[in-house]
Amino acid sequence: MTILYTVKNGLYINLTNRCPCACTFCLRQKGDGVYGSDSLWLEREPTVEEVLEQIDNTDLTKFDEVVFCGYGEPTERLFDLVKIAEHIKQNYNIPIRVNTNGLSDLIWQDDTAKYFVGKVDVLSISLNSTNAEGYLALTRSKFGIKSFEALKKFAKSARELRISVVMTIVDTVTTLDEQKKAKQICDELGVALRIRPLE
Ligand code: SF4
Repeated sequence: MTILYTVKNGLYINLTNRCPCACTFCLRQKGDGVYGSDSLWLEREPTVEEVLEQIDNTDLTKFDEVVFCGYGEPTERLFDLVKIAEHIKQNYNIPIRVNTNGLSDLIWQDDTAKYFVGKVDVLSISLNSTNAEGYLALTRSKFGIKSFEALKKFAKSARELRISVVMTIVDTVTTLDEQKKAKQICDELGVALRIRPLE
C-alpha cells in the first residue's frame, strides 16, 4: 500500500483514509490516486513505525518539503502525525506542511493548534467557502453547521501560536465575489489566502 508518494518536489505522507467530510469535489471520487501515484486507498492505516521506516529509507535531500496529505484527513491521526513530524524535525532539515480541512478541534474535542507548535511549519487549511451554509453544502461535514466557525477558530489559534497558515479555496467552485470575501475573512484572521485550481 502507498504510504509515501511524491507530488512535484514534495514527499507526501498518506496516513489515513478517514475524513469527517464528503466534499463534492473530493479527488477520492475521481480515481484511486493523484499525480500518477499508486492507489492511495490503504489496506489498513500504517503504524508510526512503518511510516518512519519508509521516511528513514528515503533520501529527503531530493525534496523541498514533507506534506501530510493523502486520501483522508491527516488530523484524524493527530498524535501519530505529531510523532512523525517530531522525528522528521529531529533528524532532517526540511519544512513540514499539513494539508487539512481544519476540523481537528471538532474531531478531537480540544483546542488542537498547540500540538503542531515546533512540529509543523505550515498548515494549509481548506476554507472552501465564505459562510457556514455554503461550506456545509460543499463539504457535507459530519459536524454540521458549526464546522465553518470551528475551522476559522483553529486557523486563528494556529496563527497566534506563530504557525504559518494558508487558507485555500478552489477557483472553479467560487465566484469572484466569493474570492474577495474569502480574502477579507483571511485578512481578519491574519492568515494568507491561496486561490487554487481544482486538481
Ligand atoms: S476534506 Fe479532503 S479528503 Fe475529506 S472529503 Fe474533503 S477533499 Fe476529500
